[in-house]
Amino acid sequence: MSGRLYHSQPHLKEFTAIVTVTDGDWVSLDSTAFYPGGGGQSADSGSIAGLPVTGMRNGDPPWHLIKGHSLKIGDVVEAALDWDRRWQLMRSHTGEHLLASTLKSIVPDIGIVKVDLRMDINSLYVNGDLKWSDLSKAQGLCNEIIASDIPVTVSLVSKDDPILDGVRIKRERIKGDAVRLVSIEGLDRVACAGVHVDSTGKIGAVLVDRLASGGGEGYMVINFSVGEAAVSSGLARGAVAAHAAHVLGAEVKDLPRSVSNLKNTADSRWQALKACNQRILDQLQPEDIGGVPVYCGSFSGLDRKTLNAKADQLRQGGICIMASIEDKLSLVVACDPIFDLDCQEVLGSALAECGGRGGGQSDFAAGGCQSPEAIDHVLAKCMEYVGNWVTSRDL
Ligand SMILES: [Zn+2]
Repeated sequence: MSGRLYHSQPHLKEFTAIVTVTDGDWVSLDSTAFYPGGGGQSADSGSIAGLPVTGMRNGDPPWHLIKGHSLKIGDVVEAALDWDRRWQLMRSHTGEHLLASTLKSIVPDIGIVKVDLRMDINSLYVNGDLKWSDLSKAQGLCNEIIASDIPVTVSLVSKDDPILDGVRIKRERIKGDAVRLVSIEGLDRVACAGVHVDSTGKIGAVLVDRLASGGGEGYMVINFSVGEAAVSSGLARGAVAAHAAHVLGAEVKDLPRSVSNLKNTADSRWQALKACNQRILDQLQPEDIGGVPVYCGSFSGLDRKTLNAKADQLRQGGICIMASIEDKLSLVVACDPIFDLDCQEVLGSALAECGGRGGGQSDFAAGGCQSPEAIDHVLAKCMEYVGNWVTSRDL
């Protein structure tokens, strides 16, 4: 098809065309400026003959989804792209070329796996070892190249042209003999069938928003934004960074190191606290109440799973009451099934005064409340209940 106007005139917003084929809600034209999607770039939307184009299907020629249309072969139609959408996708796509290229220049071993450019989020999937500091460098280079407003050009070369040896290309996806080469002059060449802006300045800005693992495939995913979205997001993040630096009493440029130090300190203190809790747990001795061994202990930062596991172990032949505080209070009351003590009742009565609740069974109950300061009172209530139960048992 000669009428792929999205390639020959990527900045065309409106055009006139002739309907050449229809198939239900699908319509093809003798020429179209609607990009059908591909290479990671989402398809265009807009209107044809005043009706919304809500989907595109790749083909030769491409198909436009126009639900409920009554168009016939030979009809002359006026068409218009949703230009805001196309403009953003073109800028994102060219921004992706730039980001991938600068990343490769900084981390040569990195592999570009796939691209996903949408209106709400842009994702670049890579494999290899990638650090945030590398991404920051790449982002800086991207924005220098954007400021230099370097031309982005398109050329067609033969599939066997040696120029392709130094080009990012997925040869298995090339159909026919011609390869469409998109170049950021002097910097980058990629085989690509997508739609791009014609100079780097039109990207506006590139901002890396996030670096994360890309799911179960072992990739890393980079989310990025371009243009006004990048500028507004960058300003907002700058304000957040300045606020965080103020809270920490640090300079913004030192935030990564300060936060890393803080995290390391918190991690080592947490490990020390865990070790301390473990020692207390190991040394916990029962109190003999009327011949029944009763373990009672309070902890800081002991997780609920560990608390429950230890209670399950210590309740053999006796009773175990343990509480731990983090941001809230966790309580477990457990006894050997040989006793007729109702642990749910013990737990419920102790937590009632601080608005807490819990559940479980008569020999093992767990719950909590939002008042960590109530820990001593809650344990005292449990012990009082158990004391009364022992007394009534002896009667
Ligand atoms: Zn491209």
